[in-house]
Amino acid sequence: MKIGEAARRLGIAAHVLRHWEDERVVVPDRTVTGHRLYGSEHLARCRIVLSCQEVGMSLAEIRAIVHRGEAGRAQIIAARIAAIRAQRSSLDSAERFLLHVRQCRHDLMARCPECSQYSQA
Ligand SMILES: [Zn+2]
Repeated sequence: MKIGEAARRLGIAAHVLRHWEDERVVVPDRTVTGHRLYGSEHLARCRIVLSCQEVGMSLAEIRAIVHRGEAGRAQIIAARIAAIRAQRSSLDSAERFLLHVRQCRHDLMARCPECSQYSQA
């Protein structure tokens, strides 16, 4: 399919697909007359790119994930996994804090050992 149809199916603008091509994230085939041609595999890759973007990954990171031959791929993926684990730990800590605050009996947070503990975590 042509770029317009691919963009429509993905729910994104065609210029986004052209940008991804410039960044070598998703490179479509070309017709003999030079028009971009997207197949089902290109679309599947585009959907993966969109999902990765939703969780804050950069195009450079995404390129490393979708291309096996990308230089520094293992390190880029390892760094992202480490960042996700740090973020999860931080979110877990915020959740525990809020669950406590919801039922905290202290007038001032500074007087509550559990509330105070959050700022030191
Ligand atoms: Zn408290």
